[in-house]
Formats: sequence, C-alpha cells, structure tokens
Amino acid sequence: MVTDLVYHDIFLKHEMSMGHPESPDRLRSAMSYAKKAGLIENDRLNLLTPEPVSLDTVYSIHDKHYLDGIRKKSEQGGGFYTLDTAVNQYTFQAALLAAGGGVNAVDRIMAGSTSNAFVLCRPPGHHAEIERAFGFCFINNIAVAANHLIRNHKLDRIMIVDYDAHHGNGTQNSFYSSNQVLYVGLHQDGRTLFPGSGFPDEIGTGKGQGYTLNLAMYPGAGDKSYELAFTEVIEPLAKSFKPEFILTSIGFDGHYKDPLTSLGLTTSGFSMMNNRLNHIATTHASGKLACFLEGGYDLTVMGMCSLNLLEELIGIEITEFDEKHTESESCTQYTKDLIDQVTKTSPLL
Ligand SMILES: [Zn+2]
Repeated sequence: MVTDLVYHDIFLKHEMSMGHPESPDRLRSAMSYAKKAGLIENDRLNLLTPEPVSLDTVYSIHDKHYLDGIRKKSEQGGGFYTLDTAVNQYTFQAALLAAGGGVNAVDRIMAGSTSNAFVLCRPPGHHAEIERAFGFCFINNIAVAANHLIRNHKLDRIMIVDYDAHHGNGTQNSFYSSNQVLYVGLHQDGRTLFPGSGFPDEIGTGKGQGYTLNLAMYPGAGDKSYELAFTEVIEPLAKSFKPEFILTSIGFDGHYKDPLTSLGLTTSGFSMMNNRLNHIATTHASGKLACFLEGGYDLTVMGMCSLNLLEELIGIEITEFDEKHTESESCTQYTKDLIDQVTKTSPLL
C-alpha cells in the first residue's frame, strides 16, 4: 500500500498578487523538503497527478453562477474578485484540479489502491462559501470530497477535523444541518482572527445539531492545548461517532512562527496531531484518511510540517526539528475550561 501525494504544477501558476502570503512558494518549499528527504523516490509514496473535478460534482457544494463568475474572470486574465481574493488566468483551472485531486484521492482510498493521501494543493478551500470566494479560497475542496463520499460512495459518517489556525467557516456551513458530516474546528478564537466565526455555541442546526464542534483557542495556545483537545474531545468524539472516513483540513499557520496568526504550535505539536488523526483513522475507518492543505505562511515551517505529515502517512520515522516553544499556564487553563464547556454541551460526548 502507498500514500498518494496529490500535486500538479498548475498549483504554482495561480497567484493572488505579487508578494501575497498565499504564494506558490509555499508548495515549492513543501516539495523541496520532500525531495531532499528522498520521499519522492520512496516506493511507498505515489506522486498523483490529479484530473479536474467535474462541474456537476462541484455544484453539489457551490452555486453554478458563482463558479461561472470565477471562470469568466479567469478567462479574462484575472483581477480582484472579492475583498480578499484575486484571480489570474490559471485560477479556475487550478481550483478545478485542486478539488479534483481531493476526489481522485478519496476514490483511490475507497478502491483500496492507496492507504491515505496528502492533497498538496492551491488554491486552498475551507473558507469558500456556497456562493462566495473568501479568505484566499474559491472551491471548498474538502467539502466537495465529503459530499462525493456521501453521494457516490454511499458513506453515512464522515469526520472532518480542521486544525488550520483559521476557522473553516465554509466547510462548517456546507454541513451545518447534516448529521452525516461531523465537523470539528480547532482554531484561534474568532474574536482575535479572521474570519471571526467558529465559537463553541455554533453546534449545528436541525438534525445536524451536535455535529459541529468548535474549539476556539486562546492566542498563544500550543502543543499542550492541542494535545488536551485530542485526548478530551476529538478522540472521544470519534469513538462516539464511528466515522467511516477521516478528512482533515491541514493548516500549518498555527505554528508559533507563522506571520499571520498568534498560536503557539511547534512542528512536534503538528506531528502529534497527525499521528493521532492517523490513529483515529486506523481505529475507526480502516485507515481511510485524506489530508487537504489549507494555510501556513512561514515557508520553512511549510517545508518541515509537510515533510513530517508525509512521514506519518507513509509510516516512516518522523524527522525531528529542534524547536523549543511552550505555552503559558494560563493558556492551558483557558483550554481546559473551554474543553469543559464543549463537553457539557455536545450530545456526542
Ligand atoms: Zn489558515
């Protein structure tokens, strides 16, 4: 069995603007670390070139007119699209290939052709809403893949864990009234960071009530807080929900060196989360795990954390980086109180 690394050179051609933090260099750094470590030649890694997603598959999440707008803007050569998104001539094609990569990956995992996957794509997706490009995102790649698993593979229980530093508003909203997708967001408190949502009282609606859970972390929260979140919330949630497939929104912007956020994770904190997600997938879903790249804006961190994620997925020794950063005790206490609050309100816990 192998791990799929989903990648296409067109992901480097989409660019929002010169010097924008969501830059092609993020993927160049990730690929460069993987190459230097010899992973691209590793027999257990399969470099998968994606196919574009079919428009009908995207329409299960996004409005047709909205997508037409991105296509037209891209075909006209690009420009600003919304307040915080811009398009160039490659954006539409890159977005179709990014979402297609996710669909290809979950199809291959369902077929038993590969164990798990890392979709190393741009543009990212978790902020994209049904009819709105938002937060550097156009097509919600992970939401499209989740809906594809429900509609085409007839799965009933998908667990999405989003550990990007920003709340995955688009993903949450795509499944807010569904009990087939359990969305768990671990992110910096929306009172202190874009997009300003993802609070503990956002728990879903109708039959989806209880199937959205948000841990809004205090700025400075790091490895200790995230470890508590996995032990006290995410692992018990998985035990209760019994997911058939784990999808993860991977963002390395929770690292303490990230220029856009104020969290305190280290590379070993990310490795801990990857390992525990892999363990949840093995325990409950026969190992079915697909990881989607979202944010992460320090280029060295992008390289180190992408390498560590691939090592975890392949099942080889994790390269250790010498980082020392610990969170304050008041931060840990805030997380404990937050965990108490969500465990009291969640019907799944
Ligand atoms: Zn982010």
